[in-house]
Parts: sequence; C-alpha cells; structure tokens
Amino acid sequence: MTTDVPTEQLPAYVEAALPVPIRRVFTYSVPEKMRSQLKVGARLKLPFGRRNLTGYAVGLHPTLPADVEVDESKIKDVIELLDDEPLITAEILRLTQWAADYYASFWGEMLKASLPAGINAERVRPKRRKAVRLTDEPEEGELSGPQQKLIEMLRSNGGEMLFADLLERVGTSASPLNTLSKRGIVEIYVQEIGRDPLAGAKLPEKGEIRLTGPQQAALDEITSAMGQGKFRSFLLHGVTGSGKTEVYMRAMSQALDSGLSALMLVPEIALTPIFSRRLRSLFGSEVAILHSRLSIGERFDEWRRIRRGDARIAIGTRSAVFAPLENIGLVIVDEEHDGSYRQHESPFYNARDTAVMRAHLAGAIVVLGSATPSMESFYNAQTGKYSYLQLPDRIGSHGLAGAELIDMRAVFKRFGKDIALSPELLDAIAETHARGEQVIILLNRRGFSQFVLCRSCGETMKCRNCDITMTFHRGDSRLLCHYCNYQERVPKVCPHCESEYLYFVGEGTENIAGKLEKKFRSMRIARVDRDTMAHKGGLEDILLKFAAGEIDMLVGTQMIAKGHDFPNVTLVGVISVDIGLGLPDLRSAERTFQLITQVSGRAGRGEKAGRVLIQTYYPEHYALRFAKEQDYLGFYQQEIKYRERLNYPPFFVLASIMIRHRDKAYAAKMANLLRRSLDTANSARTIRVLGPAPASIVRLKNEYRFQLILKGVNRRALREALDIALADAEHHGCDLRTIYVEIDPVNLM
Ligand code: ADP
Ligand code: ZN
Ligand code: ZN
Repeated sequence: MTTDVPTEQLPAYVEAALPVPIRRVFTYSVPEKMRSQLKVGARLKLPFGRRNLTGYAVGLHPTLPADVEVDESKIKDVIELLDDEPLITAEILRLTQWAADYYASFWGEMLKASLPAGINAERVRPKRRKAVRLTDEPEEGELSGPQQKLIEMLRSNGGEMLFADLLERVGTSASPLNTLSKRGIVEIYVQEIGRDPLAGAKLPEKGEIRLTGPQQAALDEITSAMGQGKFRSFLLHGVTGSGKTEVYMRAMSQALDSGLSALMLVPEIALTPIFSRRLRSLFGSEVAILHSRLSIGERFDEWRRIRRGDARIAIGTRSAVFAPLENIGLVIVDEEHDGSYRQHESPFYNARDTAVMRAHLAGAIVVLGSATPSMESFYNAQTGKYSYLQLPDRIGSHGLAGAELIDMRAVFKRFGKDIALSPELLDAIAETHARGEQVIILLNRRGFSQFVLCRSCGETMKCRNCDITMTFHRGDSRLLCHYCNYQERVPKVCPHCESEYLYFVGEGTENIAGKLEKKFRSMRIARVDRDTMAHKGGLEDILLKFAAGEIDMLVGTQMIAKGHDFPNVTLVGVISVDIGLGLPDLRSAERTFQLITQVSGRAGRGEKAGRVLIQTYYPEHYALRFAKEQDYLGFYQQEIKYRERLNYPPFFVLASIMIRHRDKAYAAKMANLLRRSLDTANSARTIRVLGPAPASIVRLKNEYRFQLILKGVNRRALREALDIALADAEHHGCDLRTIYVEIDPVNLM
C-alpha cells in the first residue's frame, strides 16, 4: 500500500516499544523502502543488543526527534516490517500505555500480552486452502480433453471448488488447471478457513423471555446511557440467578443494533460450553470467544475476526480486555469480584480495572456485575462513583438456598477424633441421591499454606502486629507473619482458652474425593481438579456430562462454584471453608463470603429447592454468619470497617514488591537495597513500607522470594516514591531484573 504523503514527511524514524523490562521506548531508523508502508501499531523486527526482537511501532517521525540523546550514527535500522496493516489499533496502543504506566510495568510487555499467544509463530498462521473458480466461459473447441473435464466438473459444482478436490474428482494433474488459470478462464485463489471453536456445536433453543421489572429498569438505564459518547460506570448487583446474564445479553444486542461493538469479560471458568453455545445462538458469527482453553490456532482466528471487524462482540477471560474491537460502546465485567481478573505474572494488571479504563478512554459505558461485589466496587457505588443497579430477587419460584453451618467442633467432640466428612453431610448426600438429584462438593483448597487453629475455641494464631493469621512452617516449627516477619514458636496451648487441642489445618483434603468414592459406590462421581483442567476439553466434557445427568456428584475446588446453572443440583456441600479464613490475606474473609454466597447460588436453581451445608470450625466468623443469611450489606458494613481500621483498600493504595532470585542471599541483599532506597525516597513518610519479609511461598520455581509492602493514601505519591526508589536502588547496584512490582495486589502473599 502506498500513501500520498510527500517523501519528506514519510517516517525516517520510528519509536518502538520492546518487550523488555526497561521503562522507555527505543528509536530506530526506517530504511527508505519501508517508509511508505510503515504505520503506527505495526510489528517490527528490531536489533536489540546482540539479539533481534519483535517490537511495536508506537511513534513515527520524519526527522530525528529532539529528545533522542543518542548520536544519529549509532541509531540502528529496522530489520523488517512484519505487518502491512498494523496489528495494534490506536485504542489498544493508548490502553496498553495507560496500563503499563498505572501498573508500573513496561509498555512493550503490555503490548505483547495484548496480542494472542504465539502470534509470531509460524504454526498459528491462518489455515488456508487453495480453491478454483470459473471466471470466463471459454469458446467451443479451445480446450483439451482434461481441460474440458475440469470445466464441466466446476460447472456442475456451482463454478467453485477446492483445488485439491477438483483435481481428485477429475483425476488429472495440476498442469491443465494451471494452463486454464494462465488463460484467465479460471482463477486460483487462496481461501482462508477460520478455526471455529464452536464448530459442530448443537445450539439450544432460543426461548422468549420477558424481563422482570428490575431487569427492565437496569437495562433501560444501561441502554439509555449507551451511545452518548460519554463514559459512565454501573455496578449491577444481583443475587445469583437474578437474571444478570439476561440483562448483559440484551444490552450487547442493543449495542450491535446501534452500530457499536461490545466487550464482555468473564472469569476463567465461566465460559462453560453451555454458555458459549448460548452466545453463538444469540449472536451467530458476530460473537468471538477468547479463553485460555482454546487452542492457539482457535484463539488466533477468533482474534483476527475481531480485528477485521467481522465479530463485533468479544467475550473472553482476562486478556480479552485488549480485544481489538473498534467503536466500542459497552464493556461488561461479569463476576467483577473474581480473582482471575488479576494476572499473576509480569506484566501484572487487573483486567477489571483495565476494562473500566478502556470504557473511559473510549467514551463507552461499563457495567460491573456481581452477586457479591468486591469491597472496592461496592464502596465506589456507595460514594457515587458508580451508578448502582440492583436485581434483588431470584428468578423463579424458589428463593436462594440458605446455608446451614455444621459445627465441626461439635462433630469432633462427638467422635473424639477428626472427621473430614460429617454424618450430617453424608446423610444429605445419600438422601439427595435417593431422590435422583445431583450433588456438588466443594473442597476449598486455595493455597497450600498451613495455619494453626484451636479446636476448642476456634481461634487461629494471629500475628500480634498485623491481625493476620500466621503461617505454620513445619521445618522449624514456627509461626511466621508474612506481612511483617514477626515470628514465634508454635504455642503448646491456645493463648485464648488454654486448650491443648491445637490443630494444624491444611492437610488431608486431597483424600476427600477418594473417601467419597468409597462411601458412595453406586454414585457416578467426577473430580474437577488440576488434572482435569490440564487437558483441553476435559472440563467441558465433565460439565456437559453433569448437565446431561450422566454424573451424580461433582467434587472439586472452587472452580466448580461459579457461574454454572445446573437445575438438578439440590445439594452443595463445602468441606473445608476454614482454610480460606486462615490464609494470611487481607481478603480472606471477603473471599470466603463470596465463595459461600456463590456456592449457595448453585443449589436449587431449577424447580426444586436446594440445601447448602458448610462444615466449619468457625461458625461464629462474621463472613460465615453473613453468608449464611445471604446478607451482603451486613457483611460489607463490617468488612469495610476492618479495611478502614487496618489501612487497606479502598482507603489505602497497596503495592506489593516481590524480589526473586535463585540465590537466596542475593535476593535478600537486593531486597535490603530496595528497602533503603524506599526509605530515602520516603523521607517525608507519606507512605508506609513493610518488610522485606520472606514471601509465604519462600521458594518457588527455584527462586527465593522476599516481599515488601507499600501502603499509601495517595496513589500518585506512592507511585512517585516507588519510581524514585527504583531509580535510586539501581544507582546503588540493585539489579532491577529481580524486582516484581504489583500495584493493587489481590493477594498479599
Ligand atoms: P444470573 O446471571 O444473575 O446468575 P441468569 O441471567 O443466568 O442469572 O438467570 C438465571 C436463570 O433465569 C436462567 O436460566 C435464565 O434463563 C432465567 N431467566 C432470566 N431472566 C428471566 C426472566 N425475565 N424470566 C424468566 N426466566 C429468566
Ligand atoms: Zn482456644
Ligand atoms: Zn505481622
């Protein structure tokens, strides 16, 4: 493609973002032959040190920009222009630039994360096949025998066939066909074949649904704000099964009708095969689906359909926030509280917050939906930053199943020993099965750290500085606080009630599924765990079978708690809810509350009422009490006080800094260097610096990990101090490659 730009205005220099942990862009000179084609957003092959890297054109200049300090003769040439048409849209350039800055990350890395995995690799090139079509009707008598046969075969197939098919059916070599092509009688061309992840999917019936009053009111608010070119944000708070999804679908449909595109983010697990099929039946080829269980090729094809404008609705997990939709009018984040929106590797970003910014930059509207909004989002709704929409009631004849707590301390007293599965729960399973209904059993095994619990009074051993449960380290039999590094020996008796029945929680849950299988031999039981998740289709397969009634009981981690709609499930049991409460984490109460509320939403979604049984050593805990009553507001009011008292979000901004290295002493040294620089940068004491302390998983993937926590009231002040400290630390010999900064961390561990 050529442009009409005068030669002297063509870009002789390009600024490129590179996927390296360096906080700046790099300038290269553009060889003349590339100048008329190069556009911002294209990928470039660039020399970098002794390697070649794929970088991204982010700025073009006809002359060397004044602020480039490098000697002109030292500037290197672009090696290759990789895209004629830029892969990255202007909007995604801006969004990734914002995200890199906000998350103290790197633009090039953020851009790389925004593109589908493996886009540079040969194997994800679009799948292509050669095809032939008739273009001109040849004069009689001009054709050889084989040529005549080819033409006839083409004619009898509507004038168009696949190259290989045609040759095979006629039984000839390619040469007569090539001759026909040279003479302009047929055209040989390349057909692109999209890999459709839903190919062959059977679509469910599209029933007509009349919205309830609250659904209609929420939809009206959303759609009337849409298309005005003005950013607005909504929190859609509705209990599970209150019809939020129905509202999202209609709002997206409305966006399409108004000529706008729409983006919807869902947690990792929510893209169930059932939901995907429903999307396809509603939106046909207008919807593209992006999630990590698609093959690389499928993801790439879906991404390209969006980039070309063929699909104007994109639905996907975390990285879909960067889907290259144009003219976006609506952004939806379902289950906005969900932890999977946070990327746990560099570049760290939170897709929910990035989605809000995306809507902001595009003048679009954003809808955050949840049955259990995060503290931050609900706080924003309370303070008027978000407009609050509510769906208070569940659709259908049954209210939410109330949770019943099973006090495991009482069970322990009765049996005089530890019992993983209470008789109450076992009875309920048997009864449910006898009625021909289905069961979900949840093993809450988030994290593998152990903590100490008193079985008599239910207290956990907490840090005296932090009000956080300490982690048990078996090796030296110590309790350690991973926030401030406070340590103590494991006490012989409970400091609260002097009971000797101290209990180390976090063991043995692996065996639960096995125990259930032994107890209920007549039941068809399936486990959902890492192994089933590991291979493509494994989870889909299980969920489809469960939906079809070919499995009686599903046993798994919280993976199975979210988003599914199985009408025949009337019992949900939660085995080890206390592990969530004991984690050394500021969000453990919130997470436990969310988990139980979500789980309760899984039982009794159909015509039958459901039961939710929760085994706990801690029935008085407010997270459990409020979850049992399905009292979100009550929980929020108590939890927000705790957040305020301990200077946590949304009142304070947090940053977590992980220092990682194979050599423990080196990691510790770097951590201490950074701590000193932070103290220097923070001489005015505008922020609080905690640590360094060993991370809760001290050694991971062969690296030792130390952690610093920063707390500040003011985001900008925190970032400034951090940036100054990083520069200062580097100046004093700190190796910044060992430093991983996470702004607004979801976990502090
Ligand atoms: P949520 O997303 O809040 O969990 P859904 O939108 O999935 O809720 O709705 C729960 C169930 O109720 C679904 O089976 C859905 O088809 C059905 N549903 C939603 N809205 C209505 C309505 N207005 N009338 C009848 N059924 C509805
Ligand atoms: Zn006690
Ligand atoms: Zn502490």
